Order: sequence, then structure tokens, then C-alpha cells
Amino acid sequence: AKESGRNTFAIYRAEMQAVSDARLVMEKALHHATEFKLFELYYQPQSDDKNELIGAEALIRWKDGEKGFISPAEFIPVAEEIGLIVEIGQWVMDEALSQVARWIKEGKWQPCWRISINVSPVQFQQTGFLPMVKAQLDKHDVPASCVDLEITENMLLNDLAASLKKMHDIKALGVHLSIDDFGTGYSSLKYLKLLPIDRLKIDQSFVRDLLEDKSDEAIVLAVIAMAKALGIGVIAEGVETWSHHDRLREINCVFYQGYYYGRPLPPAEFITAFVDNHPV
Ligand code: C2E
Ligand code: CA
Ligand code: CA
Ligand code: CA
Repeated sequence: AKESGRNTFAIYRAEMQAVSDARLVMEKALHHATEFKLFELYYQPQSDDKNELIGAEALIRWKDGEKGFISPAEFIPVAEEIGLIVEIGQWVMDEALSQVARWIKEGKWQPCWRISINVSPVQFQQTGFLPMVKAQLDKHDVPASCVDLEITENMLLNDLAASLKKMHDIKALGVHLSIDDFGTGYSSLKYLKLLPIDRLKIDQSFVRDLLEDKSDEAIVLAVIAMAKALGIGVIAEGVETWSHHDRLREINCVFYQGYYYGRPLPPAEFITAFVDNHPV
């Protein structure tokens, strides 16, 4: 028993060592990828109730030489912990805006479409965030009204007054603000009327079980009704099937995003699939 106890401990230690080794390898690779800009942006269509394109969400992709694609759900939290997210977030903004500027020049992007860009809470809290957004808009000469920043409820947890001020400053630039993953965070409904928000994104977890789970359906219905009452737009994400789409239409959802309409694609493929083949 003593022998096996020692073995168990040795195995445990070896596993712990493997975990922290993997973490260090990831951190090193992330530093490298950030320095040499080894990321890509994919674009996923967003549409209205007439199936017309209203914009796209930019989603970061990281293809490691050995491991292939590493999910942002895996590496973004690490980048947040080690502070690299600030530099990565700036790269995302730079890349997305330069892409949209090119599309506008080529007549591929309507001025009323919005490019949705994810903003990490860590990034949002930086004092340099607002100047960075301003500088990027100037640099690329993209109308601020084409830009939608997706933030999450949890970034309000830290300092509500400071976050509110920053949100108002961003809105003053003409940029739109959305709350991502709505319903999964901690924001109280009373904040909602305080926030200068253009859109709520109903989290995919509620959409997924919309047809089977009565309480998920009730939540989706309530969010749509509340957004309408407050004059806020609402977009359902994670719409995977025709039945999701059909039900969401029945309950008067306004905007839609999900695999049912299209998966995130590299820029050229996005234009071929959703712009060239669907002239507006
Ligand atoms: P998110 O912002 O909630 O993005 C939506 C995620 O759902 C994306 O995963 C998208 O590919 C996926 N998705 C879209 N439609 C469907 C669908 O119909 N079904 C299902 N099952 N999934 C769908 P992705 O690209 O792997 O990104 C995961 C998360 O990583 C994002 O969640 C976001 O939190 C973060 N992320 C991605 N790109 C960025 C970025 O540029 N900056 C920051 N800060 N975070 C990012
Ligand atoms: Ca998002
Ligand atoms: Ca989301
Ligand atoms: Ca998310």
C-alpha cells in the first residue's frame, strides 16, 4: 500500500509537471505568435429577419505549426492572464479595420454593415483603450458607425462608474456597443437602462435548447421583449438549425448569427459566400 501510495504521488507530480510544462509552452508560443502576428481573423455573417446581411463578427484564429488550430476559448484566457491580450486586441482591431477599409474601397462592404469586434474586459479596463480605438479609426478611415464592440457584462463588476464613463466616451466616437453572452454574467437588469448599449447578444446556451427547454424559451422571449421595450437591438447567436431560426422568427427576434447562416470564414471566402453570391 505504501509502495502504491508513493507511486500515486509520483504520477500526480508528473501530471502536475506536465500541466505546467504545457502552460509554459503555450505562453511561449503566444509571445511568439503575438510578436510575429501569426494570427488570422475569420468573419461570421450576421443577418436580419429578411436574411439580409447586417455585418460580421471578427473571430481570431491561431494556427500553430505543430498543433494546428488552437481555440480562442483556450488561448484568450491565457493571453488575458499574462497581459498579452492588450497587444493581441490591438492587432485584432487593426486587422479588422484594415480589412473593412479595403472592402469599402472595393465596394464589397455597405456603410450600414457593422464589424463586430470582441473586446476582453482586461483590454477594456486599460487606460489606453479609448485612445487606441480612436487612433485605429483615424488610421483606417473607417466610419465609426461601421464598428460594433462586443463587451461582456462582467466587465461592469470592477468599477461601474468608470466602466460607464468609458462606455459613454466610446459611444461619443460614434462606435456601437453590444453586450456579448447576455444572460450568463452578473449584470443586474437595473444597469441595463443605464448602459449606452445598442445591442444584446443572447448567449448561445439559451438558443441551443430553445425548442426543448421551456425555461430557456422563456428567457429568450423575455430578453427580446425587454430589449424592445428599452429600444435596444437584440441578436441571437448560436443559431444552428432551421428550427431555431423558425422559432426565433416566430418570437420576433431581430438579428441572427450562427452556423445555420454561415460559419466563420477567412476574408476572401466570406466575401464569396455572403456578399458576391448575395448581392444586396
Ligand atoms: P464569442 O464571442 O461568444 O463568439 C462566438 C463563438 O461561437 C465563436 O467561437 C463562433 O465560432 C462560435 N459559433 C458561431 N456560431 C455558432 C453556432 O451556430 N454553434 C456553435 N456551437 N458555435 C457557434 P470561437 O471563434 O471559437 O471563439 C470563442 C470565443 O473566443 C469567443 O466567444 C470570444 O469570447 C473569444 N474570442 C474570439 N475571437 C476573439 C477576439 O478577437 N478577441 C477576444 N478578446 N476574444 C475573442
Ligand atoms: Ca462575441
Ligand atoms: Ca457570444
Ligand atoms: Ca463567449
